[in-house]
Amino acid sequence: MEKKAPLRRCIGCGESRDKKELIRIVRTPEGSYELDATGRKNGRGAYLCKKESCLETAFRKKGLDRSFRESVPAQAVSALREELQKLGGE
Ligand SMILES: [Zn+2]
Repeated sequence: MEKKAPLRRCIGCGESRDKKELIRIVRTPEGSYELDATGRKNGRGAYLCKKESCLETAFRKKGLDRSFRESVPAQAVSALREELQKLGGE
């Protein structure tokens, strides 16, 4: 039996990809935003390509705000960008 890879939609470019090609952003119950490499952290999550450009798009086009149903502060986005860079994304 073939197992279908679960697809998730990037909140930046809007493309659906294999979950493994994306990174999960999670808002913790404490209200901070983190990258969730394991996909198991608690909190509301959204998926993003491992690209700074998609993070920028998600921020500018309010994809982040829509996903988390609040205004995501620029400061939180900068922190996420730094985490993305550590992952060695494009
Ligand atoms: Zn994307």
